[in-house]
Amino acid sequence: MFTDGDPTEQTTPRQYLVKCDGCSFEQSADGRDEAATIGNGHHRETNHDVIAVEVPPSVTSS
Ligand SMILES: [Zn+2]
Repeated sequence: MFTDGDPTEQTTPRQYLVKCDGCSFEQSADGRDEAATIGNGHHRETNHDVIAVEVPPSVTSS
């Protein structure tokens, strides 16, 4: 009987910050898929190039 360790265990989605090269657009996203969706949406609207920067999980919040 196995009670610990699920091989399909999900990890917390990583936080990304989607930034634009052509304007001050910035938006955070949960996971790569959402970051890509946001980036594609902005690119489609403005034809700007966007980049997604991975944000390390913050351990402190004050
Ligand atoms: Zn832009």
